Amino acid sequence: MQTMLSSSDWLIEETQFNLDEANFKETIFTVGNGYQGTRGSLEEGHKGELSGTYLAGVYDHHDSTVIDQVNVPTWLPLRVRVEGEALDVQTCKVVEHKRVLDLQTGFLHRETVFEDSTGRRTRINSIRFASFADQHICGIRLIVTQENHSSKITVESALDSHRYNLDRLPAYQGNPVFLPEVKWEKWAKSRHLKVTQSHASSDASYIEALTLDTGITIGMASALDSPSFSEFKGANRDYEQVSQAVSVDALNGQSLTFEKLVSIYTSRDLNGAEVAAKCEASLETAQAKGFSTCLSESAAAWRAKWDTCDCVVTGDPEATRAMRFNIYHLLIAANENDPRANIGAKSMSGEGYKGHVFWDTEIFLLPFYIFTQPETAKALLKYRYNTLKGAIENALMNGFEGAQYAWESADTGVETTPKWTADGANRIWTGEEEIHVTACVAYGILSYVAATGDHEFLRDFGAEVLYQTSRFWISRLEWNENKDRYELTNVIGPDEFHEHVDNNTFTNRMAKWHLEQSARVFRELSESSSEVHDELRIRLDLTGKEVDHWLETAEKIFVPFDPSRNLIEQFEGYFQLKDIPITEWDKNRMPVYPEGHNHFSLNGSMLLKQPDVIMLNYLLPDEFSDEVKAANYAFYEKRTMHKSSLSPAIHSIMGIEVGDISSAHHYFERSAFVDLVNNQGNTQDGMHIASAGGTWQSLVCGFGGFRVKHGKMTFKPWLPEAWSAIRFNLKWQGNDVEVAISHDECRFRFIAPSDRREEIEVMGHPVTLIAGEDVVFAPQPA
Ligand code: BGC
Ligand code: BGC
Repeated sequence: MQTMLSSSDWLIEETQFNLDEANFKETIFTVGNGYQGTRGSLEEGHKGELSGTYLAGVYDHHDSTVIDQVNVPTWLPLRVRVEGEALDVQTCKVVEHKRVLDLQTGFLHRETVFEDSTGRRTRINSIRFASFADQHICGIRLIVTQENHSSKITVESALDSHRYNLDRLPAYQGNPVFLPEVKWEKWAKSRHLKVTQSHASSDASYIEALTLDTGITIGMASALDSPSFSEFKGANRDYEQVSQAVSVDALNGQSLTFEKLVSIYTSRDLNGAEVAAKCEASLETAQAKGFSTCLSESAAAWRAKWDTCDCVVTGDPEATRAMRFNIYHLLIAANENDPRANIGAKSMSGEGYKGHVFWDTEIFLLPFYIFTQPETAKALLKYRYNTLKGAIENALMNGFEGAQYAWESADTGVETTPKWTADGANRIWTGEEEIHVTACVAYGILSYVAATGDHEFLRDFGAEVLYQTSRFWISRLEWNENKDRYELTNVIGPDEFHEHVDNNTFTNRMAKWHLEQSARVFRELSESSSEVHDELRIRLDLTGKEVDHWLETAEKIFVPFDPSRNLIEQFEGYFQLKDIPITEWDKNRMPVYPEGHNHFSLNGSMLLKQPDVIMLNYLLPDEFSDEVKAANYAFYEKRTMHKSSLSPAIHSIMGIEVGDISSAHHYFERSAFVDLVNNQGNTQDGMHIASAGGTWQSLVCGFGGFRVKHGKMTFKPWLPEAWSAIRFNLKWQGNDVEVAISHDECRFRFIAPSDRREEIEVMGHPVTLIAGEDVVFAPQPA
């Protein structure tokens, strides 16, 4: 490897090339910086690769079933030929191969030794990065060494706009398994790009493409710096590709270095007509700095980021590495500088869910950003404000008032959930029925405000979202005259096995909470009367009377509960369903579908896809007693199939909360390693980014026992035997709290202006944090 690597608990490694695993590796080796994500495909490409660069907020519909996060021109191609013969994993023998993603610096390192058809051995080393210091810059340094020959080496660097997104798999009889080389060729593909400009010279090349429906101009400029003694430097311009090539007569044992720098801008960043000039100017700036400086600036930015959010598990380096892997992906998924973009369910590491944004953002991802990168959290929530118009359109289209957030949202906020599964076999109802997402958006906003104290955000952006979404609930709720209560019929709760249900408790209770909170915010903002809020009230024609009605309605929302057993019924009629026991587990100790069942056949059973009541107990910690939480955990956990990667983390947290620690560590591992070991089998489609956020919550809120209760930081930790301590940082009201928890004590360091104190609670005891001091709480042995 070319440069010093970090210690092993920062490294994700691959030690051989295996075609069956190539697509999964492409996901986990994604490099990015919030502006772009580029899958970890090999520079020279191969048959069966699933490569892609995605840019936050760049969507297009055109000929796809639903809107796609666009697979934009690729900047990766960097191919080596020895006397005209290509070095790649399919035509050469791979003698050695290793790749390492260094999570601390964000660099992807590679070392491969190829043997070609005439026995010539050539070593390739590369470092790839997407700059964390300048989001528009990325690049690859390549070192070619001839191990047993002197030959002419040609290196070709390209920008390729011949791209497509995967759309649908035609229905084949009997679900045949296709060879990895051809499986993606079977898919219907959608095109989103048309090349509008391209040029190439020996100095630089440039390609510009326009998205077909959304009209976004995407520009990429690139330069290949090569050894000064190269004898030929040329450029090619094809219909959709520009390239530069360099040939060198190289001697046996000689190492030649080639450096490719790339600059990317789009018309989302600046005026479309300026994109080309901006790409070229920023490329020149990067070239003037030099590749090494670009690398070190990016690594420095990464290190500074890690200072805010590193998590360490002492005694378990594998767990530390997995934490860092998940955090790395969280850090490259979100763009603090772009409040018009959000995080798709697979981030920018793959095409699963088409880059669509779900409740995953507010419920699974946001806590990490709120408590470590509040500016990013704010940008993510501003996206909801910026897509409020789309949410208003959704409500209107469905015959309701106010604003209804989409179950799946893209660039405008208008509902984008597909109606059918990719094979056309099953109808998808989530877009129509999984309405709890609207309350989750409110939940995200209020969690952010509670932790940061950013009341300006609430006044200037959050309040409008809260009010408009409250109006949606008021019009969506149905009055049941006979039972004297409000209901929500025909919905899907978080557990998607059960469709078309009535009075899903999660949805009803969150809607109730939402209305109550909106009324509180209205009262508080009206009391502290500001021009902005007065203007908002007038613009929305919102009166105190309307807000009183929100409260009256909230009080009458039906919340199914069986007091005799302390059990919350997941939805009306759930307790009458067939109680099918789970009797089989896979090698990861995860439940297997009962004989003859699948995702779509469990509507009539008590089995769950993922936590629903348990999720509610987690989200509203102040609203349920310990007894209720314990009873519901015991009841629902054993009926949960964890068929969503979002599931295990929440179970680790709530198991610890209710004192059932038997599976907490196991659930943590399922969540932390879901992509590292591909335990859902579909990591090739992209990272389970919500699970990455859930993993952070599992460590901090599960083992660290951290909750915000009644507006205060509280901790109730528990650690597994195998761990000696955990460390993490939290941002709270603009200050920093460093937390270190071992079996014997909890240590807090409060980094804040010198006179600041913060009252917190540890294991139910009041503790005062004092700025600049270490405060230690040691529980008395029982
Ligand atoms: C998910 C739904 C989603 C649907 C279509 C399903 O796998 O569970 O939440 O809406 O796919 O994207
Ligand atoms: C889960 C949803 C989730 C979606 C996207 C589905 O499988 O059931 O809760 O929002 O995936 O991650």
